[in-house]
Amino acid sequence: MTPSFCVAALGFTMLRAPAPSCAARIGCAVVMAAADAPPLLVVSGLRATVADTPILKGVDLIVRRGEVHAIMGPNGSGKSTLSKVLVGHPSYEVTGGCARYRNDEDLLELEPEERAQQGIFLAFQYPVEIPGVSNNDFLRLAVNKRRGALGLDEYDPLEFLGVLSEKMEMVSMSPDFLGRDVNSGFSGGEKKRNEILQMALLEPELAILDETDSGLDIDALKTVAAGVNACRSEKNAMILITHYQRLLDYVKPDFVHIMYQGRIVRSGGPELALELEAEGYAFLGITKEQQPALS
Ligand code: ADP
Ligand code: MG
Repeated sequence: MTPSFCVAALGFTMLRAPAPSCAARIGCAVVMAAADAPPLLVVSGLRATVADTPILKGVDLIVRRGEVHAIMGPNGSGKSTLSKVLVGHPSYEVTGGCARYRNDEDLLELEPEERAQQGIFLAFQYPVEIPGVSNNDFLRLAVNKRRGALGLDEYDPLEFLGVLSEKMEMVSMSPDFLGRDVNSGFSGGEKKRNEILQMALLEPELAILDETDSGLDIDALKTVAAGVNACRSEKNAMILITHYQRLLDYVKPDFVHIMYQGRIVRSGGPELALELEAEGYAFLGITKEQQPALS
């Protein structure tokens, strides 16, 4: 993950991602949204490659406002790839299928920074450090780009400080972090809190959290979960990529999906995550020993 993409994923800096027209993609299904309640995101038959290797092999997923979807699955299943394809990471080439956003817009046609400005947010599995850029300036720039896209006035530095202080309290972050460069020298837990802070400030319509719970001690996990729950509303939706039931003890998902070998192979309610915790991925022919992250 490069700093430049990380910046684009927050809505600023021009980066060009390959985006062939939706109609040209093989297997693109036209999904008609109900007139009164269109889904926020419809992913249909999505295929993608990285370095010419197929990773996503036909992902189908429908997310509506107000919903929290957990995506679980063994390592290497393509979960992070799906999240990066949805935000337009340039290393991933879409080779088939569609992703429609809000009023049936072709998400894959938008540049990464446009997706961010239109309310898509990704908390990275491995947040990057951006030396030379203060966290305060970085966050204000990102928030003002999003506000601009919403037709709202930009915050001046003083106004922003007020907004920021409130949100920092929410994720129990000390004001010391504002003057420091983005993620520079932050511990793993501090980086994850910083991702939640970004989310709280940007107020995304679709937030994707990629293993934001990994490596956190129980207090940090509770703080992150509280931040997620505070951001949750009927107007937005969240996709939580996680290995662990323990996050789902604090953030109750509406749906749980299992991804394996580039596809969603099973979907259910919260009970599916409990079943996984008890039995692992035996139903996929994988033993707990082969999947240490679950043990
Ligand atoms: P998950 O998040 O489910 O663990 P990933 O989406 O990270 O899975 O990875 C799926 C597969 O794609 C893995 O085999 C991984 O090695 C490969 N992959 C992902 N990103 C890259 C990349 N930038 N270059 C080469 N291979 C990659
Ligand atoms: Mg991953």
